[in-house]
Amino acid sequence: MTTIHTLGFPRIGAQRELKHAVESYWRVDQSIDALKQTASALRSQHWQWQREAGLDVVTVGDFAFYDQVLNHIALFGCAPKRFGFGPRLSVDQYFQLARGNADQFALEMTKWFDTNYHYLVPEFHADTHFELDSHWLLDELKQAQAEGHRVKPVLIGPLTFLWLGKAKGHAHQHQHAQHADCCGAPTQADAFDKLPLLARLLPAYVQLLQELTAAGVELVQIDEPALVLDLPQAWVDALDHIYATLRASGPKLLLSTYFGAVDNHAARLSKLPVAGLHLDLVRAPEQLAAFADNWPADKILSAGIIDGRNIWRADLDRCLETLSPLRRQLGDRLWLAPSCSLLHVPVDLAQEGKLDPELKSWLAFAKQKLNELSVLKRALDLGRTAVHQELQTSRAALDARAASPRIHNPAVAARVDGIGAQDDRRQSGYTTRQLAQRERLNLPPLPTTTIGSFPQTDTIRRARAAFKRGELGGSEYHQAMQAEIQHAVSRQEALGLDVLVHGEAERNDMVEYFGEQLAGFAFTQYGWVQSYGSRCVKPPVIFGDVSRPTPMTVAWTQYAQSLTQRPMKGMLTGPVTILQWSFVRDDQPRSQTATQIALAIRDEVVDLEAAGIAVIQIDEPAFREGLPLKRADWPQYLDWAARAFRLSASGVRDNTQIHTHMCYSEFNDILPAIAALDADVITIETSRSDMELLDGFGEFAYPNEIGPGVYDIHSPRIPKVEEMTRLLRKAAAVIPAERLWVNPDCGLKTRGWAEVDTALQNMVTATNQLRQEL
Ligand code: GLN
Ligand code: ZN
Repeated sequence: MTTIHTLGFPRIGAQRELKHAVESYWRVDQSIDALKQTASALRSQHWQWQREAGLDVVTVGDFAFYDQVLNHIALFGCAPKRFGFGPRLSVDQYFQLARGNADQFALEMTKWFDTNYHYLVPEFHADTHFELDSHWLLDELKQAQAEGHRVKPVLIGPLTFLWLGKAKGHAHQHQHAQHADCCGAPTQADAFDKLPLLARLLPAYVQLLQELTAAGVELVQIDEPALVLDLPQAWVDALDHIYATLRASGPKLLLSTYFGAVDNHAARLSKLPVAGLHLDLVRAPEQLAAFADNWPADKILSAGIIDGRNIWRADLDRCLETLSPLRRQLGDRLWLAPSCSLLHVPVDLAQEGKLDPELKSWLAFAKQKLNELSVLKRALDLGRTAVHQELQTSRAALDARAASPRIHNPAVAARVDGIGAQDDRRQSGYTTRQLAQRERLNLPPLPTTTIGSFPQTDTIRRARAAFKRGELGGSEYHQAMQAEIQHAVSRQEALGLDVLVHGEAERNDMVEYFGEQLAGFAFTQYGWVQSYGSRCVKPPVIFGDVSRPTPMTVAWTQYAQSLTQRPMKGMLTGPVTILQWSFVRDDQPRSQTATQIALAIRDEVVDLEAAGIAVIQIDEPAFREGLPLKRADWPQYLDWAARAFRLSASGVRDNTQIHTHMCYSEFNDILPAIAALDADVITIETSRSDMELLDGFGEFAYPNEIGPGVYDIHSPRIPKVEEMTRLLRKAAAVIPAERLWVNPDCGLKTRGWAEVDTALQNMVTATNQLRQEL
């Protein structure tokens, strides 16, 4: 019999019950018992679904109040000393690690591999000790056992856990919590070699595995996704010792890898003393050959065959083509699973009452994916006729999708085919454009601007919510937003900023706003996935060829421009970011979809220019996070991603100024690609890294203009004039002043008007001081 299992299930609940329970616990209007009760009910439900779908084991250990990596910090008693907590954490202390407290800033947060999920980064010191606090896993194990399930606990493997942590020295640390909306992790490199910590970490794992054996566990899934990265050889070599040590302590181990190929380690992995290996055959199907050909006769191979990262219904016939020979070869040693944990997809498609039935029939969320596994199992064990009906339904949906006129737009295809070699190039080189733009814009030295959004006040949110519910009419809403624009423009004029923005009051979210107006996009009602902690996002679904039926921002921008003599910056989201923050169609390469989005944005750029807008910003905060996990794959990505950006930006005349904005501080390894965007001006985050990242730009001799953020918008602190003059002088030492702009690190939508007003006032004062010195 084929065994089916999942590497993990979304924990938030089909209705985001966990979010609501956690947040109400934080607000102190719910007791810890109530929170624990919700958590326990969610786990029961998720195990029950796994069982109902016919999974052979249910997965335990994928639950977390906040984050699974934080759970391991609790489990192995390695909270940073600076919190002063001791090895056994209360739930309250657990949350303090995640959110900070009066004395300590929170653990840093960063992206879990190439997903949009953020984990809390463990902090390791040379003297970090680990002390097992097993109840963080065993309580849940006992719950599942008491509910009568066959259980498979899941752990993050020691190699990955260490790799994901940050080695902290005594060096200065930036006291800021990370904000996941737009900003990546700080750049600080590891202060010491973490690998020797294994000697202290492994005994804690051994002890845990022994306790699991004592609790009746036969097999443990141990996740080592770090193996898909470019690891230093010493880390790879450590595998043998790690797994020899862990195997000696009891339960069988299923080593699981995902998000990429591990065939470069095939020989070593086949020989490890583990019971089996899980491979991601969705991301890296080609790696199978390296393993299947010589797979040891006593080992399980878990085929990650259902896409755990996307929301499309699987092509079951194609899965069976891969699986049937494997099944003949491996017999009962073939296991089936989603490619990775289902954490990255929404919970249950059945709730989507408003999605049209056709589109809905093309999709599968976590719960539906469990059923797909079950169909595959039955097809392999009992023969395809046993699941004739299910296969038929799946085939029909797939055929309908492939043929649907909603997906294929011949005009878009023709346009993509017709892209000429010059279409992703501006008419002239940068120097020529710079002259033309200076003549047209006539800006002072060190021009001041902002990144786009102004505070999204309660009034704005309420108006939008009322409009969406139909309680506020279209023209009333329009007027309310115009009033906001008017306010933002008059504030900026009073402050004396040079290039103004309209403030983005009409936008809920920088991707959703555009997705809602582009053809080829759909929106779900409950398609939430966890982003970090209690925060969830609902990514749009790109199901078909993308085009822009009508202008999306022109009227608002034109209105804003009509209120001022100063240049009004048009504000758009770039193709790579729209792609990166959506569920993307799987029937064509991502690069192709990016090209289509780029053409749609290009239309908007051209229309803005025709409407008299002289400065247009195309935001690409997700440009860097699209980078593949393996460096060898970077050039190809950077090539098509930069090209998509240029395609969106290059339809304009020389004297129209294109800006881009990226808010993270890791640039140096991709600077040539950033330069290849050929934006006239780039604004970036730098205040938190104290302008240090500019060194890279200086050395590289970044040719175009640059606005290094002079204040951290993530902090409620209002920066003083002197802080900003200091940063500006530092910037001017690296970048010639005639190419410098002055702006905050990112958009201001999360701040209040009072702080924004003072902060920008200080920014303008600092700029004026610097201008005197020029
Ligand atoms: N223009 C956007 C804003 O100001 C940019 C947001 C971002 O970089 N994430 O809000
Ligand atoms: Zn930003």
